[in-house]
Amino acid sequence: MSKPHAIVIGAGFTGTAIAHDLALRGFDVTVVERGPIASGTSGRTHGLLHSGGRYAVKDQESAIECIEENVILRKIVPEVIEPNGGLFVAITEDDLAYKETFIKGCEDCGIPVDEITPQEALRLEPNLNPKLLAALIVPDGTFDPLRLALSFAATAKKNGAVFHLFTEVVDMLLDGQGNVTGVKVWDRTNNTRYDIHSDIVVNATGAWVGQITKMAHAHVPISPTPGIMVAYDRRLVNRAINRLNRPSDGDIVLPQRRLAVVGTTSFSIDDVDYVPIDRQQVELMLQRGAELIPAIRQAKERGVYMATRPLIGASGPGRSISRTFKAYDHKDLDNVDGLVTITGGKATTCRAMAEKTVDIVCGKLGLNIPCTTAEVPLASYRAFYD
Ligand SMILES: Cc1cc2nc3c(=O)[nH]c(=O)nc-3n(C[C@H](O)[C@H](O)[C@H](O)COP(=O)(O)OP(=O)(O)OC[C@H]3O[C@@H](n4cnc5c(N)ncnc54)[C@H](O)[C@@H]3O)c2cc1C
Repeated sequence: MSKPHAIVIGAGFTGTAIAHDLALRGFDVTVVERGPIASGTSGRTHGLLHSGGRYAVKDQESAIECIEENVILRKIVPEVIEPNGGLFVAITEDDLAYKETFIKGCEDCGIPVDEITPQEALRLEPNLNPKLLAALIVPDGTFDPLRLALSFAATAKKNGAVFHLFTEVVDMLLDGQGNVTGVKVWDRTNNTRYDIHSDIVVNATGAWVGQITKMAHAHVPISPTPGIMVAYDRRLVNRAINRLNRPSDGDIVLPQRRLAVVGTTSFSIDDVDYVPIDRQQVELMLQRGAELIPAIRQAKERGVYMATRPLIGASGPGRSISRTFKAYDHKDLDNVDGLVTITGGKATTCRAMAEKTVDIVCGKLGLNIPCTTAEVPLASYRAFYD
């Protein structure tokens, strides 16, 4: 019997993790990506391997997903992770008043949390604000975004997945009933257009999922919610530092190689392909970041970048929307068969997002093949170019 053929649109964390999962479950896999690997949101995140602490009070579903996947990613792809840990730090009395709620949230979600004295925190991180009032250690980490996506892609490729990079899906192939049977693509490298047929199409285009579903006369509830990050020219911290309070703007400072990155903001946009950076937000990152790490004021701004979260849900301010994920079978949503969309989530939860999506794909095709991605170590990111 021939293998089922799946097309995955998008090669960010989600699409590459799905390609890997599908390949392990025995599918023929074709990935179509309009740019290089991780050229969407995935290439422009902080790279914070969440412990879930950030979401442990208000968004516990996402917090539990984060801690579970944090443990799995450390096991299957240690090469791209700096297992440096994280600190949640109280600077003001208001932060301090949040401490017990935070500890309770972490305990409820199974996130290990340990209080250390301000002196111990300063010994670990000498650039912390010396006026800090409390510090809690959680198992956050830092990952290299491009290498994480490349590791999933390399493993998928090793198991037979074929990647069409710089190739954009410009339309859907539909049968007489309006069901999806493949995609029409435009190869930007040689300006050719062709069709690819498949048994199933998986839409993993992040903030762009709505553009793809529209081509199939389907829909998906999504709120594209951008945020900005500012990189400074020195590594001022070795751990991921979070402000001990409800998630807010500029309350994360973490190391990426020799840099310190401060993030982020949360706002809405009309056009997902045009997200201007507002200088006021850049100033806010400096102001808020310096409350945690005053030495940021002596550092030079090295770069400002933005990315757009593909949050689930149709409306609402970004900070109020859950960071969990959802996979949609468009047969149920729009009576359009052959198309599954995945949206929401975090980089940290991309493997679980892939598992859930491929479970739905297998269910639709009448296959009962268990997921093994939590156990299978990923190939080196370097292998993608072999
Ligand atoms: C500011 C910010 C900071 C973040 N920080 C973190 C963090 O520190 N830790 C964490 O865990 N999570 C973080 N996240 C969340 C995380 O980055 C995203 O959830 C994740 O990158 C989404 O990945 P994705 O693969 O779903 O989407 P994307 O990475 O956007 O991938 C979608 C891909 O689809 C492609 N595409 C679109 N249209 C087409 C088409 N027509 N044809 C072919 N290809 C197409 C795009 O080019 C893109 O590469 C952050 C998000 C933001 C916005």
